[in-house]
Amino acid sequence: MNFNFKKKFGQNFISDKNLLGAICNDADITKNDEVLEIGAGMGALTKQLCGSAKKVVAYEIDQELKQHLQALGCNNLTLHFEDALKKPLEQIENDFAGKYKLVANLPYYITTPLIFKFLQSQKIVSLTIMVQKEVGQRIVAKPGGKDYGALSVCCQHFCNNKIMRIVPRNMFTPQPEVDSCIVKMQIENEFNQNSQKFFNLVKICFKSRRKTLLNNLSEGLGLDKSLLSQLGFNLSVRAEQLSCQQFEELAKILDCYLGQDEIVPMQQ
Ligand code: SAH
Repeated sequence: MNFNFKKKFGQNFISDKNLLGAICNDADITKNDEVLEIGAGMGALTKQLCGSAKKVVAYEIDQELKQHLQALGCNNLTLHFEDALKKPLEQIENDFAGKYKLVANLPYYITTPLIFKFLQSQKIVSLTIMVQKEVGQRIVAKPGGKDYGALSVCCQHFCNNKIMRIVPRNMFTPQPEVDSCIVKMQIENEFNQNSQKFFNLVKICFKSRRKTLLNNLSEGLGLDKSLLSQLGFNLSVRAEQLSCQQFEELAKILDCYLGQDEIVPMQQ
């Protein structure tokens, strides 16, 4: 097929059969599974998924790929030519009878918003996603280092995360400027009415990485430092020093000061 790759859509396709099979294995796809794929591209991974799963629902933003994908001839495949980031989660999930697994070779520019979108699902079992290697390292990072940030804390609050394999840049067409990895995020904590508060707290704490929790919290929540100092939690440290569990404790302590509404979409 004669095709112009579009950088703006993050098009880096894979075709290596071993790698495609490995991704399906990493995602643990069986004939009982319903699968959501974001960014079907030429459909190489889509086809592989259709062979392993009960049902696959795939999204592709690029209308130029429509004819090609429709001709794949998979009878357990539902295609949507839409922006998966913009489509409301509830509508995406209408295609599934029950729980589902997300598998995707993601465009790098939508990785973080997409993770935050699907962490809010109550029907998702796992996310097995190809991400930039450095993003994978941030997802699994432990406290204390520069990789540890809002993305690490939020992913670790909801999921058990594992880097399944490193994928070198030469596995993609066209070849990107960075290496990738497959991360598997297995949901352990479902999103509930406190989860948005947790997101908001983490975001505020990491607002200025070099500031102490006390300074970030008093600015972010508009609270007096003297009040914050009386909460019985050591706030003289930086956010990057707190474990995920300590963030959970802090969220409980600050519960009544944290908003339920999304403040600003999380970027990191
Ligand atoms: N799954 C294919 C393609 C991966 S490249 C493979 O592994 O070879 C990423 C794909 O995501 C591209 O085809 C791109 O057009 C698509 N894409 C980018 N942004 C998207 C969005 N917001 N919603 C749905 N698809 C998107």
